[in-house]
Amino acid sequence: MTGHCALALMRRMGKRIFVAVGLALAVIGMAAVAQPVPAISKFSVEQGEGGLETLEFETSAPVTPKKAFTLSNPDRVVIDLPHVGGGMISLPRDYAGALVKGVRFGQFSPDTSRIVVEVNGPAKIGGMRPGSPFTLEISPQEVAGGSGLEAGKVKAGSKLHKSPAPSPQPQLPLIIIDAGHGGDDPGAIGLHGTHEKDVTLNYALALREALLKTGRYRVAMTREDDHFVPLFDRVAIARKVKADIFVSFHADSNPRPEARGLSIYTLSENASDDEAAALAERENKADIISGVDLSHADADVASILIDLTQRETMNKSAIFADAVVDSLNGHITKLQKTHRFAGFRVLKGPDIPSTLIELGFLSNETDERLLLSKDYRQLVVNSVVKGIDRFRAGE
Ligand code: ZN
Repeated sequence: MTGHCALALMRRMGKRIFVAVGLALAVIGMAAVAQPVPAISKFSVEQGEGGLETLEFETSAPVTPKKAFTLSNPDRVVIDLPHVGGGMISLPRDYAGALVKGVRFGQFSPDTSRIVVEVNGPAKIGGMRPGSPFTLEISPQEVAGGSGLEAGKVKAGSKLHKSPAPSPQPQLPLIIIDAGHGGDDPGAIGLHGTHEKDVTLNYALALREALLKTGRYRVAMTREDDHFVPLFDRVAIARKVKADIFVSFHADSNPRPEARGLSIYTLSENASDDEAAALAERENKADIISGVDLSHADADVASILIDLTQRETMNKSAIFADAVVDSLNGHITKLQKTHRFAGFRVLKGPDIPSTLIELGFLSNETDERLLLSKDYRQLVVNSVVKGIDRFRAGE
């Protein structure tokens, strides 16, 4: 018996283990290659006790959902899946429940497929079971508070109870104007100490005056004095008043002092450029800066999240933004590629064409001076009115 012998034995065993592991990997590898993408073929809903509804998705192979969460305004349940194929799914004709309104399915990102279940009110998520079919339990949730949910509820309720009596004349379109920041949140601070929140409020008030003067519009504001309104609530207010168009005013600042000019942003899942992405990130921080508790909002609302409902509105918003860009007075300095895209949270009203106007850079000497000038403000405001007119005419 020598050490040499034992070593030889270990070596032999090691080789065997190595071969076994190698074989297992080969099998796993083959399975991965051979496995087709599961496809969703059918959607059904089973009713249970106390309003519980079990959503069932039949698939060609077992599926393990990544996560499920709820969103409000409008209320919906979102299920994110690994990449899954399949065509359209729809609410069964014989659906007898009260909670589900509709269902959509699509590719959210290259490796995530998404099911959006529209619901008739705030929903609570119960058990989720992976497999084929995979299922998710949902039930109605009592609304405990939170202005976003409240606004959605008011809207749904008023729609249901609306009397069918015809109004004598069609109502004028309602424009909601959103002055960025406010209260504890000054926004960007200028070279000479100008606060973005003051610039945005002055522009909002001026635009309100100009729009009302035309006699063609009604106007609502998310704020008309110096107080803080969370981003989440700004969208909720717009929806509550049933706005037709949402215009948000902001002003930026940039480490490069030479950066100047106006730009117009609309919502997109992919930012048009890094600068637009960074800007959206800065503006989206307003709530955090002011210490607002976002825990009542879904975690995914706080991130850059677009769901399928917003696509049509995104297109309309882009058309609206282009109409404003086309209407800009020649004396207004514009950023190159004036219309840009990014994931601004305040632009996420799912059914209201929305645009965010960055008036200029408070970090630039000239821009800061212009943004305080009454004449320049009137120039910009008149251009925005013209853009709204154009957009409405083309709609
Ligand atoms: Zn801002």
